[in-house]
Amino acid sequence: MTKELNFKQELTAAFGQPISENPTQVMVEAAYRHHNLDWRYLTIEVGPNDLEDAVRGAKVMGFQGFNCTIPHKVKVIDYLDGLGESASLMGAVNCVVRKDGQWIGENTDGKGFVSSLRELTDPSGKKVVIFGAGGAARAIGVEVALAGASAITIVNRSSGRGEELSSLLDEKLPAEANFIPWEKTFVIPDGTDVLINATSIGLFPDLDARLDLDIESLTSETVVADVIPNPPETNLVRDAKGKGCKVIDGLGMLVNQGVIGIRHWTGIDPDPVVMRAALEEVFD
Ligand code: NDP
Repeated sequence: MTKELNFKQELTAAFGQPISENPTQVMVEAAYRHHNLDWRYLTIEVGPNDLEDAVRGAKVMGFQGFNCTIPHKVKVIDYLDGLGESASLMGAVNCVVRKDGQWIGENTDGKGFVSSLRELTDPSGKKVVIFGAGGAARAIGVEVALAGASAITIVNRSSGRGEELSSLLDEKLPAEANFIPWEKTFVIPDGTDVLINATSIGLFPDLDARLDLDIESLTSETVVADVIPNPPETNLVRDAKGKGCKVIDGLGMLVNQGVIGIRHWTGIDPDPVVMRAALEEVFD
């Protein structure tokens, strides 16, 4: 009997610039191998002027989908056929999925964050403080609000971006939101259930950087989350653990957004333990 041979792998990718330090391939391909999928996830440098061609190229070459990262998350929308609900609210896409020959834009960053959060607490009815108002804060703010958080405080250095995000949450989503300009050491309000660093403070190589936050005002009842994936053990993560808080590090969000992306592309539910272990190996 002749075995049927297939040399054509299914393709997925990350498009971005810079892209060489993006570790997503390691965890996604670990999942493909673990689940016996003959799929690849390619890390591809695409500059802003080439994005349209890259998206068209991926379509004609039969890619099943791709992630897009800095600087493409907003611009890519111009080249897609439709958007999921939260991507449309955020105005940003980080995961593109082929559905019936069309490119549909999703945002899995905030959803990945909320999956991590749910492992420790249900966001419904919770009071949440978010530091930052960039892409990550926007994705997290929208998904935490969709998950039922009752109050969201945005704390940000620049007022323009901070006010814009708090207005979006307050007006278009069921949460009450307010903005506090980050002009001095931030004292955590009593009753804060979840505190999230969604700024880039602490990202490699700024290992010593610290949020301007009164750590004495942090109590063990607050769940603390940091989006920084590299290194996962930031000063905030260490300080919060020292205070006895339950903590989510940036690998939690990264793995869970990857889980959702793989589910969109392949239809299987990948094992997050395998994906996290692959990342821990490279960040060791
Ligand atoms: P943006 O550039 O869109 O936003 C950066 C945010 O950080 C802004 O709110 C900015 O404030 C704030 N910020 C930066 N430096 C400082 C500083 N020194 N003091 C005070 N505030 C500061 O970036 P993103 O939102 O896209 O990404 C933020 C972080 O999230 C990155 O480190 C990225 O690695 C991480 N991330 C992690 C993911 C994961 O899966 N774990 C997924 C996506 C992102 P201002 O508005 O005043 O400039």
